[in-house]
Amino acid sequence: ESGKPLNFLEHLIEEDLRNGFKKELLRFRFPPEPNGYLHIGHASSICLNFGLGLRYGAPVNLRFDDTNPTKEEQEYVDAIKLDVEWLGYSWAKECYASDYFQQLYDWAEDLIRAGKAYVDSQKSEDIAKQKGTPTEAGVASPYRDRSVAENLELFRKMKAGEFPEGAHVLRARIDMASPNMLMRDPVMYRILHRSHHRTNTEWCIYPLYDWTHGESDYIEQVSHSLCTLEFAPHRELYDWFLDQVVEFDKVRPKQREFARRNLSHTVVSKRKLLQLVQQGFVKGWDDPRMPTISGLRRRGCTPEALRNFAQTIGIAKRDNVVDVALLDFHMREHLNRVAPRVMAVLDPIRLVITNYEEAKVEWLEAENNPEDPQAGSREIPFSRELYIERDDFREEANRKFFRLRLGGEVRLKNAYIIKAEEVRKDAGGNILEIHCTYDPKSKSGSGTEESLRKVKGTLHWVSAPHAIEAEVRLYDRLFSDPTPDSHKDRDFLEFINPESLTLVRAKVEPGLATAQPGDRFQFQRMGYFCLDPDSTPGNLVFNRTATLRDTWAK
Ligand code: ATP
Ligand code: MG
Ligand code: MG
Repeated sequence: ESGKPLNFLEHLIEEDLRNGFKKELLRFRFPPEPNGYLHIGHASSICLNFGLGLRYGAPVNLRFDDTNPTKEEQEYVDAIKLDVEWLGYSWAKECYASDYFQQLYDWAEDLIRAGKAYVDSQKSEDIAKQKGTPTEAGVASPYRDRSVAENLELFRKMKAGEFPEGAHVLRARIDMASPNMLMRDPVMYRILHRSHHRTNTEWCIYPLYDWTHGESDYIEQVSHSLCTLEFAPHRELYDWFLDQVVEFDKVRPKQREFARRNLSHTVVSKRKLLQLVQQGFVKGWDDPRMPTISGLRRRGCTPEALRNFAQTIGIAKRDNVVDVALLDFHMREHLNRVAPRVMAVLDPIRLVITNYEEAKVEWLEAENNPEDPQAGSREIPFSRELYIERDDFREEANRKFFRLRLGGEVRLKNAYIIKAEEVRKDAGGNILEIHCTYDPKSKSGSGTEESLRKVKGTLHWVSAPHAIEAEVRLYDRLFSDPTPDSHKDRDFLEFINPESLTLVRAKVEPGLATAQPGDRFQFQRMGYFCLDPDSTPGNLVFNRTATLRDTWAK
């Protein structure tokens, strides 16, 4: 961590420290709105904020920005907490903007008393029309000069529930001619007769984001409030709102912006992800094809892989799209180190070893992970009838085909060298069985001359009578276009990849019967797989996390 070069936000913090800001006062927050599940863009923001906390030994709060009861739910709060924990971070305090509703309300009354806020009783369309354009000043609301007494009375009645939605709003009284449109008397409160997942029906006026965010940072004494670039124009307003409440001996939060991270072949927007869920394009927020943290977890991604990915892409000053292949790379890179190797045949064809004794079973030793000597070994059964991949056999093939062909030899992983002698076909010419002979002296690890004999190919296999059946879900990109939501006249849903999920029935080695949901494996020569929670003892379900190599860019 600390050996890495500083990013531009760390440089800003270092500068603040050089200018006398006390290190003990550094404090950060990660502020999700609980209106959906976290996605991989949020993972960047989590790693950034919690990474700063670790670098400077500073507290990091988890703050729920829960000011819009129409979209927020407890389910999302719970999912967000689980995801942040799973990523490996712990927050100093669990905070909710809704815990500050009373304080925000009191401050709003102070603003009214200071002549800096007023109740506007126009329709929202009219307010919008009066905003003007960036080059043309806006028009003042006819209610802009209401008396303090009248404003207070109306605001209190708004709070007391005496008006229907849309009847009034509270606006800050700033500058209708500001070149920054956000400064033209922004709305601070609106009436919403909605129940909130935490405050229930206690409130029927709700503060808007701009009024809430900076003040929440201030209440929590956050020193550096990091947000994405779209908030850059909001910074002036953030500062104006702080000016109204900051006391001299308190930390004044600073908003600083960094670029949003987008991932290729997907969308990272809770609103669009919700559409995918609601319209049934995926099975849920945690569908393994989703770029959500929960989807990635279910697919078999590790927290380490996701953190390494976020670290590698770092933070930027300009929005950009990161190739999803980089995420796959980090998943492979970590799983290669930690995932036990097992054998699974995804497209099985029967292979009979004609010179192997019928009913004989040998238990062969197989290394669990060549990358990790501590992982030990296990025993796998070998017998006369096996399954291999259909693709690993050809009746005829040229010299570049290093797998099994009639008359050719291969080694069966952890077992013997075999030679294909003939094939049995059905009436339609489809291969039913491959008949082979084996070299009894060629057993792997036996030390004989034959065991060291080099043959071109090594195949994985499973013993037919011992194999267990499994459903394997092979995933591909959810979208066939690299940037599905960047097309002007086309909806991102038009770019859904119709083949993002393929189901196969596989034969897997018997030891997998005891695997638990979430367990990750390398199926040798096939990729990385993770046992899905849909599994039952009689029906294992695996998700493909990643292939062994990048086969996408073909
Ligand atoms: P969405 O459009 O997906 O809902 P959001 O920004 O509205 O995104 P929030 O819940 O408000 O979602 O985000 C919490 C934090 O995560 C914010 O600080 C936000 O800036 C940051 N964040 C969200 N999306 C990304 C992204 N793609 N890259 C980096 N940071 C992000
Ligand atoms: Mg949002
Ligand atoms: Mg947001």
